[in-house]
Amino acid sequence: MINRRDLIKHLSAFPLLGGFLGQNGAEAAGLVAKVPARNLAKELGIRTFINAAGTYTAMTGSLMHEEVMETIQGAGKEFMMLDEVQTKVGEKIAALTHAEAAVVTAGCFSALTLGLAGVLTGMDQKKVEALPHLEGTGMKSEVIIQKGHDIGYSHALTNTGCKIIQIETIEELQKAINEKTALLWFLHIQSDKGQINHQQWVEIAKKNGIPTMIDMAADVPPVENLWKFNDMGFDLVCVSGGKAMRGPQSAGILMGRKHLIDAARLSMPPRGSTIGRGMKVNKEEILGMYVALDKFVKMDHKKEWKMWEDRAATIRNAAKSVAGVNVETFAPELGNHTPTLRISWDATKVWLPVKVLQQNLRDGSPSIEIMPGENNTLTITTWMLKPGEEKIVATRLKEELSKAVV
Ligand SMILES: *Cc1c(COP(=O)(O)O)cnc(C)c1O
Repeated sequence: MINRRDLIKHLSAFPLLGGFLGQNGAEAAGLVAKVPARNLAKELGIRTFINAAGTYTAMTGSLMHEEVMETIQGAGKEFMMLDEVQTKVGEKIAALTHAEAAVVTAGCFSALTLGLAGVLTGMDQKKVEALPHLEGTGMKSEVIIQKGHDIGYSHALTNTGCKIIQIETIEELQKAINEKTALLWFLHIQSDKGQINHQQWVEIAKKNGIPTMIDMAADVPPVENLWKFNDMGFDLVCVSGGKAMRGPQSAGILMGRKHLIDAARLSMPPRGSTIGRGMKVNKEEILGMYVALDKFVKMDHKKEWKMWEDRAATIRNAAKSVAGVNVETFAPELGNHTPTLRISWDATKVWLPVKVLQQNLRDGSPSIEIMPGENNTLTITTWMLKPGEEKIVATRLKEELSKAVV
């Protein structure tokens, strides 16, 4: 059988054949890439850009892998029962992550809400329909969090009607636990901002018969984190699908104990009269999430890391070649663990407010997004770049910094 590459070779040898087949015929034969019928960004005047900043929701997160997009396209052509898709995909995800069960949610945030809903209601349909009104239902109503972990995301928990109880020390934690305590919640990205570590948290919860949940939304890589917290004994583990895993941006995973996942699903579509009815993920995102996770678990992470580092070196060398510019390379331990450049400059040598630099890069062609920091600093990551874009970022950055040399 003739393969695609041979065919293309033949085509270029016989240019008339392409003309003979026509664009549609050539497309059908798989000879040329399908050109999208419409370019909506162009049509609506939406700015597209090179993302040298990172996986930010405001910047639409990450770009899905080709396999994920193919999965979405294929799934869009058939009907399936939503529950069956969740059950079959859930079993596969659970096996990959050492969890008893799993379900695809509308991002990590909805995993937090739905997981807690499952803890509160169990399999009691009346309680499911009562949420977020807890009074007089017999449901518990408090979630305990370390003060340093209580950043904006705990709103996902109060969505269920629960109240947040902040504590700092082990003594305070033990005193705070009472018959109303539903959950002990842990935020991995802030684990250095609390006095109580993962193991202590799980241990104290187990001693008191209270379930635990961990938010590790932005904490792959390392890939091992996908099973580490399940192995450690957290009852529920929540992760984003559209950050480093490059699954659908509107997908995430809730994984953990089977009885809790079963209960959480009672608050999820297709069931209405639930707090989760608006957190819908359809077959396309569920299957896309599975394919992204599967790829992420099996991929060569060392090679990926090396590629990110090489790109970072290209940008670092260009920036450092400007007198007065300093570049520091690091990888955050917690959250967004990827090679990161912190670029700073001496204002007496390079006069350039970071907001002006940000705007200039944004206004350039192609447009580039970086993350401005305090004073004369900015950060750049390379994991969301398409191959070759690091050269454009390096050139543009050097250009703007050089222009500002006093
Ligand atoms: C991104 C993030 C979330 C929200 O995740 P989504 O997948 O966007 O819903 C929650 N918690 C933390 C720590 C995050 O970084």
